[in-house]
Amino acid sequence: MHGHLGPFLVIGVRMGKLAERTLKHSSDKDIKFQVTIRVPQTTPFSCTIDGIQSTTQCTIGNQRLKVEKSEEISGSFEVRSPKQELRICVKPKMIQDLLNRFKDGARGEQLAAHIASVPEEELFIVEERRPSTVAKLED
Ligand SMILES: [Zn+2]
Repeated sequence: MHGHLGPFLVIGVRMGKLAERTLKHSSDKDIKFQVTIRVPQTTPFSCTIDGIQSTTQCTIGNQRLKVEKSEEISGSFEVRSPKQELRICVKPKMIQDLLNRFKDGARGEQLAAHIASVPEEELFIVEERRPSTVAKLED
């Protein structure tokens, strides 16, 4: 579907899988969520969008995915009821590191393999809001 393999596609796949795993943990397996992805709207950054579409079934076509222009890469994954929100932000340091490696001549497939093996906590900042914490924040 995407045509080539690169690190930002893998970032999107990992974001999507992390969201699926976190939001669908014990409750309803058919739970549906909405995604807002904030990303620079140029390749290779926008490749992240396809990674998310292919893992979450949230697509522009089915209206469950919105894309907003941004300097950094982050995604909000929202379940309406019971209300739950997960924010996943790609650490800017990781993006800079990828750009440096590209500049040094690394190929997309090599960097894709590298990103596939980086521990989640090195790649993302994850913030989860559940009904209890949402209430607390709104106090
Ligand atoms: Zn791509």
